[in-house]
Amino acid sequence: MNSETEVAVIGGGAAGIAAARRLTDAGVPCLLIEARDRLGGRAYTVEHGGVGVDLGCGWLHSAAGNPFVAIAEAQGRRLDRSPPAWTRAALERNFPLADQRLYQQAMAGYFERLSELAAGETDVPCSAAFEPGNRWNGLIAAVVSYISGGDAADVSARDFENYAGTEVNWRVAEGYGTVIAAHARGVAVTLGTVVERIDHSGAALRVETSRGTITAKRVIVTLPTDIIAARPELFSPALPRKTEAAAGLPLGLADKLYLNLQAPDEFGRDTRVWPRLDTRDTASYTVRPQGRAQIEGYFGDGLAAELERGGVAAFVDFAIGQLADVFGHDFRKRVSLLDMHLWRADPFARGSYSYARPGKVKCRKVLADPVDNRLFFAGEACSELDFSTAHGAYLTGTRAADQVVAAR
Ligand SMILES: Cc1cc2nc3c(=O)[nH]c(=O)nc-3n(C[C@H](O)[C@H](O)[C@H](O)COP(=O)(O)OP(=O)(O)OC[C@H]3O[C@@H](n4cnc5c(N)ncnc54)[C@H](O)[C@@H]3O)c2cc1C
Repeated sequence: MNSETEVAVIGGGAAGIAAARRLTDAGVPCLLIEARDRLGGRAYTVEHGGVGVDLGCGWLHSAAGNPFVAIAEAQGRRLDRSPPAWTRAALERNFPLADQRLYQQAMAGYFERLSELAAGETDVPCSAAFEPGNRWNGLIAAVVSYISGGDAADVSARDFENYAGTEVNWRVAEGYGTVIAAHARGVAVTLGTVVERIDHSGAALRVETSRGTITAKRVIVTLPTDIIAARPELFSPALPRKTEAAAGLPLGLADKLYLNLQAPDEFGRDTRVWPRLDTRDTASYTVRPQGRAQIEGYFGDGLAAELERGGVAAFVDFAIGQLADVFGHDFRKRVSLLDMHLWRADPFARGSYSYARPGKVKCRKVLADPVDNRLFFAGEACSELDFSTAHGAYLTGTRAADQVVAAR
């Protein structure tokens, strides 16, 4: 399958879809090239019992300014504007309210110290903001791992602080992944096409893929950072600045496990359960997410990485064990696996979302900068303020498309 287009957009996730949609709407011939047999990338909804279950992104973060809100509405989707479990009190059974207040105070103190450190001369890791000996350090580190996907010792405080999220977070009943994939309707796409090399040595760009060579005048690259960092030979001639920038922005790991829950009515909707209060190696669980007869477990960084080595069964065992510790042995009979996706093991993701290593904040801009006005870059890691999110990826995709239009 050798072919020719004006703009080759590499990667059919939120960024690539946004770029290709924008170019298509502007009448610029383009082709969206995706390795998997589906669109969406780290936005991935599967259907169970007529509802969308998001194995990747689920929250329309910063909803008031999130472009996917209007897109979802135009698609006729059902937005769920109810507040997230993490903004309300957790289940008191093993976590009395008085302790929850102490934990919230400790967390507020941690974030205050983090802000001060981030404003300092030298960038430091997020772990520098822990108060030695504080009893809530484990839980705070777990939350940092859910937010960044990384270990607090590896994550830049300045980058963490730069994140511009608002406290408004919505969901969509049909699934965030459904909305994002459907946004590509009408765009020219080739699925199951793995890009192996981008040859920019000649007058025309040659995108070499598992299914032949695609020739283009311009290319937009939206590949996850761990893929760019691991493959210096992706670009020919090599682009060491890009490879190094991607290496400064590794993908952290977050995995979501969904369990079926029998007799769910004893729980209120979106009830947060913290099974352990003394370690960062714990999942947190949302019982009845969106009122459904499910439990959603969230696993970050080291714990997720270790469990991935045992596959989905290891997550199920771990989660059911933690839940039985809180609700008693008989609870085991009420839960069973619904679905999950292992993001680190996925060769087209290699992780969940990017964080900057200490001192590497500038890598986001370096990664995003165009090369020779014909190689353009997008993807969540290219966003300086909305990184790690689907809407951040979208905004970098439309920006790259606008850069292409301006360069024609
Ligand atoms: C478990 C989890 C929970 C999350 N929760 C949220 C959330 O609640 N809210 C939120 O906003 N964000 C969340 N995110 C992050 C969000 O999903 C990502 O930031 C966003 O989807 C990234 O989009 P992207 O286009 O930059 O990258 P991707 O979606 O990774 O797109 C890149 C595309 O490139 C393709 N590709 C890879 N290699 C090749 C190749 N060689 N050739 C061709 N194609 C290739 C991939 O298949 C993929 O489709 C979550 C992510 C995960 C994993």
